[in-house]
This record gives sequence, structure tokens and C-alpha cells, in this order.
Amino acid sequence: MMSMDSLDAACSVCGEETSLYLNGVPICPDCDKAGKAGRAFAGVREALTLARQECRNALAAHSKMASSFGLLDPGNPAATEAIRNAYARIEAASLAYAKALRDYRAFKRE
Ligand SMILES: [Zn+2]
Repeated sequence: MMSMDSLDAACSVCGEETSLYLNGVPICPDCDKAGKAGRAFAGVREALTLARQECRNALAAHSKMASSFGLLDPGNPAATEAIRNAYARIEAASLAYAKALRDYRAFKRE
């Protein structure tokens, strides 16, 4: 895989001499670390965006449910069940959002 010649390779990002390769591209340890942090942060940020979106969707689904079922026929077991599920979805979504936010803030602190 790695020969002694690779010691002379230049980092593809900053041009620093390096013996480290990432997917066949020379990269120095500093740029590799920065790249990893950047990718991890992008992942955390995306998770936060998705979690926020799911919160919105869950709330929207619940209010749609409540207006179409709950008020018309509050005694309907199917409606009660559907609304309970909608609540559970909101609860799960807000827990996931809180966790994503914690991860995001932990990342910002580092
Ligand atoms: Zn570099």
C-alpha cells in the first residue's frame, strides 16, 4: 500500500510534506484532522436540521389530526388512538431534537 516514496508526497490541501493518504490522495495529519472535524460537524448540523424538521412535521400532523378528528368525534377510539400516536410522535421528535441540540452545542464548545 504505502511505499517509502510516499514520504515525499505533498498534502493535497496545504502542500505540506506528508506520508498520509486518504482515499489515495495525500493529506497531512493536520488537514486530515480538520477535514474529519468538518465532516463530523456537518453531520451534527444536518441531524439538528432533520430533527427540527421532524418536530415541525409532528406538530403539523397533530394539529391536522386534532382538527379533523378530535373536535368532530372525541369519543371515537380510532381518533383517540391517532391523536395519542401524534402526541407520541411529537414527544419522540422533541427528545430527538433536544439530543441533536446537545450534540451541536457540545461540538461548538470543543
Ligand atoms: Zn495539509
